[in-house]
Amino acid sequence: MLVKLSSGIYIGEAKVTDPISGKIRKLKHAVIHFGGNNSNIKGKTSDAPCRKCFNKHGDPGVTLTCSKCFQKGDMFSTYMYDVSFITFNTTTNGTCTTASCDEPDVVIKRAYGFLHNQNFGDYDLVFNNCEHFATACKTGKARCNQAALGFGVAGAIVYKAARRLRW
Ligand SMILES: [Zn+2]
Repeated sequence: MLVKLSSGIYIGEAKVTDPISGKIRKLKHAVIHFGGNNSNIKGKTSDAPCRKCFNKHGDPGVTLTCSKCFQKGDMFSTYMYDVSFITFNTTTNGTCTTASCDEPDVVIKRAYGFLHNQNFGDYDLVFNNCEHFATACKTGKARCNQAALGFGVAGAIVYKAARRLRW
């Protein structure tokens, strides 16, 4: 079964600036994630920013938002690193990788780096998506095991092709 997943880096507590008052506020359960401003992102682009994290839904690029804005009503699950090839091949696409990940402080530093510099590139559903972003933050490598996350037929083809190359 193909499922659509959003990947991001859980930061924990972060500071956000209220764009109206200019005051800095604490934000619990912050997530840094990467998205494109297109129809594939759930939730419509709205002019009213979130009251907690001040983000507008559907903002493109790398954004720091509250967990609620990231989640958009979907379930949370933990992405697994360092899994065996057997686990990788029998687990839902886009939920694990055989790559190992770095320590949390390194990962968070990378995520903030992408956020401040906005240098993760243009969003691409297959070649540069939220999972690539999360994997890059976690491992320091810009590629992930799966090229596709279940974005329909095109994704499935790329996924199979990528697998064939590995064997
Ligand atoms: Zn929010």
